[in-house]
Amino acid sequence: MPQSEYRIDRESGLVIDCQFLPSPNCDDRPSDCTEELIVLHGISLPEGHFGTPYVEQLFTNQLETTAHPDFADLEDLRVSAHIFIRRTGEVIQFVPFHKRAWHAGVSSFRNRNCCNDFSIGIELEGCNTIPYESIQYQRLTHLVIGLLRTYPSLSPDKIVGHCDIAPDRKTDPGPVFDWERFHQSILPAQHL
Ligand SMILES: [Zn+2]
Repeated sequence: MPQSEYRIDRESGLVIDCQFLPSPNCDDRPSDCTEELIVLHGISLPEGHFGTPYVEQLFTNQLETTAHPDFADLEDLRVSAHIFIRRTGEVIQFVPFHKRAWHAGVSSFRNRNCCNDFSIGIELEGCNTIPYESIQYQRLTHLVIGLLRTYPSLSPDKIVGHCDIAPDRKTDPGPVFDWERFHQSILPAQHL
């Protein structure tokens, strides 16, 4: 396990020594777009149930929507994120960072729409009411520091929640996500 940051191979866009489960739900970024924004999300399927295989299945179009009544809305949904961090700290990558993952939907950051074009999406396994685990903050910090080091177009002041770029539709990662704790933890990266 990495001590302080994940190493990222810029060529492949993959975290080194990390599980990679390729998602078909991605494509090329528009030619004038690069990685500028990090978007944090919270997800659990069903909501509030942790440790299920359903998030990976959703991101790889393997989800059997009859498995749970809540999943009916997810039929034919084509979504992904670059990274998923489980409650256990397990990190799974679905989309190389230079590719466009489909995580933000209709969204706007500082008057720029279509945030998928220029962002990296990180999903934390969680919900709006149960605090995230310490190991998730730790892994997230190490990952974000690795990203900031690898992609100079990213910066610590351009890390937002899904709720910030789609406030009418989304609440994740939710009020239980401790932004102050997170920002403190990435301070060593401020001068990268
Ligand atoms: Zn989200």
